[in-house]
Amino acid sequence: MKAVVSLNAGSSSIKFALFTLDDPSVPLLAASGKIEKIGIEPSLRAQSAAGSVLVERTWPGGADLTHADLLKDLFAWAIDHLGDREVVAIGHRVVHGGTQFAAPALVDDALLAELETLCPLAPLHQPHNLAAIRAVRSLRPHLPQVACFDTAFHHGKPEVASRMALPREFHDRGVRRYGFHGLSYEYIAAELGRIAPDLAAGRVIAAHLGNGASLCAMANGQSIDTTMGFTALDGLMMGTRCGSLDPGVVLYLQSELGLSVSEVEDLLYRRSGLLGVSGISSDMRTLSANESQAAAEAIELFVWKAAREFGAMTASLQGVDALVFTAGIGENHAGVRNGICKRLEWLGVRLDDRANEANDFRISAPESQVAVLVIPTDEERMIAMHTIAALNRMAG
Ligand code: ADP
Repeated sequence: MKAVVSLNAGSSSIKFALFTLDDPSVPLLAASGKIEKIGIEPSLRAQSAAGSVLVERTWPGGADLTHADLLKDLFAWAIDHLGDREVVAIGHRVVHGGTQFAAPALVDDALLAELETLCPLAPLHQPHNLAAIRAVRSLRPHLPQVACFDTAFHHGKPEVASRMALPREFHDRGVRRYGFHGLSYEYIAAELGRIAPDLAAGRVIAAHLGNGASLCAMANGQSIDTTMGFTALDGLMMGTRCGSLDPGVVLYLQSELGLSVSEVEDLLYRRSGLLGVSGISSDMRTLSANESQAAAEAIELFVWKAAREFGAMTASLQGVDALVFTAGIGENHAGVRNGICKRLEWLGVRLDDRANEANDFRISAPESQVAVLVIPTDEERMIAMHTIAALNRMAG
């Protein structure tokens, strides 16, 4: 009996999910959870598929514990929890696969070296994704690991949606619009295909609104445009990232205000977005509960920028049949969904307020010309599916 583990390692957290493969075509969730506050005071929490808490643990005074140290403890717990099921592979979310990787890939030295060169393109994520792969390698050198790329889903999008208006040589050197959140969009496309195949076959704009946020324009389940570009900074306003920005601002920050490259990076990735505009928090829930004008302005800008990008994605698709909201804000925040959809009434979008407040699957009113849906994403399951497929390819 077998199991696979999905890992999604960030700077201060590691999300994980354990899937058993008693029926290999339908991975069954055995546990999921998160190690948080790495570098401060790490804590681990895992729950069963039904939501009951399986383990809660903190490491008081554990600020020095590395991702590798904590993964070792997580493995010990997971092996114990899985009993006689053997972990046969680990799948990782890897944010950037560059121009080369259009599909998940088995990890080896050459792959790791290649992915390392992409760290400057995703400084918030890539180094941590790779650190987790290395940590698992040192713990279990022979365990197959599969890198699942957030960029891969967007690989087939039209050339025009990949090109930037820079001299050609830069495109040839990889300065392109890649797009991210691909594991989430791939899952949404598959779920929509299962639940509402007519809509999935049409023109759909999916909105992944979490700490990171983007939109994806999908035609017949394929990405044809997306708001993130060369890096995960572009497009929508996010928790701490600015989203699309006049590139002249970056020049001004450096040449006139004297900010160094790393200060600009810190500003755009970690101090902007909801946090920067509100001056209060990067967390949408916290801001919604705050009565200050700055919090209201931050939410207003988030909604305004999102609605504007919905317009752009609609143009890329030449119309739209369905909108899908997903991730922390998209799945739970009726006010943000309402704000965005109000700004899209010119498209014929009408919400059913009661269904929206209840986070129902279909939140559009019967008279709406565009279906509006809420579908919880599951990147960990997508990683598990890719990992199993890679193992099957390996087996021949
Ligand atoms: P990540 O990108 O880190 O995976 P999530 O998808 O968990 O992020 O989204 C985090 C965002 O979702 C935060 O801004 C948080 O406030 C918001 N969020 C999560 N749950 C809720 C909720 N029940 N109501 C409103 N907002 C929520």
